[in-house]
Amino acid sequence: DTAASTVTFSGRFARDFAEMAIPWRAEKAPEPRLLVLNGPLAEELGLDPDFLRSPGGLLLLTGNEVPAEATPVAQAYAGHQFGWYSPRLGDGRALLLGEITHVDGRLRELHLKGSGRTPFARNGDGLAVVGPMLREYIVSEAMHALGIPTTRSLSVVGTGRAVQRETLLPGAVLTRVASSHLRVGSFQYARATGDVDLLRRLADYAITRHYPGAADAGNPYLALFQSVVAAQASLLAQWMVVGFVHGVMNTDNMTISGETIDYGPCAFMDGFDPAAVYSSIDESGRYAYRNQPVVAEWNLARLAEALLPLLHDDEEQGVALAVESLEGFRRQYSAAWSAGMRAKLGLHTDVDDDVASLLVDDLLALLQEGRVDYTSFFRNLGKAARGQPGPARGMVLDLAAFDAWLGRWRAVGPDAGLMDRVNPAYIPRNHLVEEALAAATGGDLDPLHGLLDAVTTPFEERPGLERYASAAPEDFGAYRTFCGT
Ligand code: AMP
Ligand code: MG
Ligand code: MG
Repeated sequence: DTAASTVTFSGRFARDFAEMAIPWRAEKAPEPRLLVLNGPLAEELGLDPDFLRSPGGLLLLTGNEVPAEATPVAQAYAGHQFGWYSPRLGDGRALLLGEITHVDGRLRELHLKGSGRTPFARNGDGLAVVGPMLREYIVSEAMHALGIPTTRSLSVVGTGRAVQRETLLPGAVLTRVASSHLRVGSFQYARATGDVDLLRRLADYAITRHYPGAADAGNPYLALFQSVVAAQASLLAQWMVVGFVHGVMNTDNMTISGETIDYGPCAFMDGFDPAAVYSSIDESGRYAYRNQPVVAEWNLARLAEALLPLLHDDEEQGVALAVESLEGFRRQYSAAWSAGMRAKLGLHTDVDDDVASLLVDDLLALLQEGRVDYTSFFRNLGKAARGQPGPARGMVLDLAAFDAWLGRWRAVGPDAGLMDRVNPAYIPRNHLVEEALAAATGGDLDPLHGLLDAVTTPFEERPGLERYASAAPEDFGAYRTFCGT
């Protein structure tokens, strides 16, 4: 079989947004080798996993052979990177292959990352290496399993090409699946062209694609903006509740759909620390754990600026509408975060809000004081709700304070079953991710599959998987991740 005989892509973005899409082809992968394939996701997309594993499938998953009707493109976008505006970023090492229909009836885009230089590559080599592509695969699939909106990963294929980093490393291509690749930066790019018709068409496309209800609003473009604000408020709350640090929340890495995108220097927090930052290049801590909601709001303000010509004929009134809508972010974020934290503590809706928020705040202060492992603490707290406080108690420093807290918490009747449904046993722990990536880079895929098995069923504790539920060993030290690789 060949890609041409097996898959049909539509390419609406390539067709309708030629101003923002450069037709391009992937670089030849000398010796494609499958490292990991997401069989269930392939089937949801109507793709035959056996075909994808075959030589013809690997040609498709590296972009080396695409169906005749497909138009792979590099997408143009702008973006604020660490606060600084770049008018022309775009897919420097990625290609949008096209769209296919998911079993849910909605479209998904297939996108290759690491497929070679494009006209947006600037000084980059257009390539990606095995480790970071597998990190995206692991973490995005873990996020999906946790119920958090995210792009997904269909496959990672080794290219057989050595890529120059600090050392020579094996190259790879990731196939990413997303409801779209529209970003805040896409709108910044369209706005900067000065072509208001392009901006309007892009907004109409985003509405059709993601928020069809906005089309019926009195002011559809304002409704689009409000929908993105709502989606991002909800997303950020979910990141914060689970302890996810994205690491590079530039405006080109924030989607219009509300899906998490671009897993670069990301990490799950281990010891609870509001100032946690893992990215080696984030020297000022701009994208530290506790800053994420504020940064999201800042990025949404950039989206509002880009949409301004569509919001109202009168600029001042447009600004007023945008400001008012943006104010919704804090309210929606806080409500979603509080609800998420209540659930982590097993608190039902009959528990008074003030009581609940004091319980949450006091507990987080205790966790911060002891840099307590965030994920395993909450899982252990579920055991405390069943009358076994030992495991949770063994993790905190100030036992007297914790016992007093336990007494208050147990008095409101926490629900252990609820806790186990929202507090994961397994997350992609940094030391295990590094172990899996290092082994895979050296050719051993077993640790990768072991980790994927644990994190894709995160809430169901299973015997034999204890090491996936445990904190990093002391000698793992401070964790650093690197991006752009
Ligand atoms: P990111 O930090 O992953 O969002 O990437 C920022 C920009 O750098 C995007 O325009 C990427 O396409 C581009 N980029 C990152 N790595 C490379 C690379 N190795 N070659 C070419 N472009 C790259
Ligand atoms: Mg990016
Ligand atoms: Mg990236």
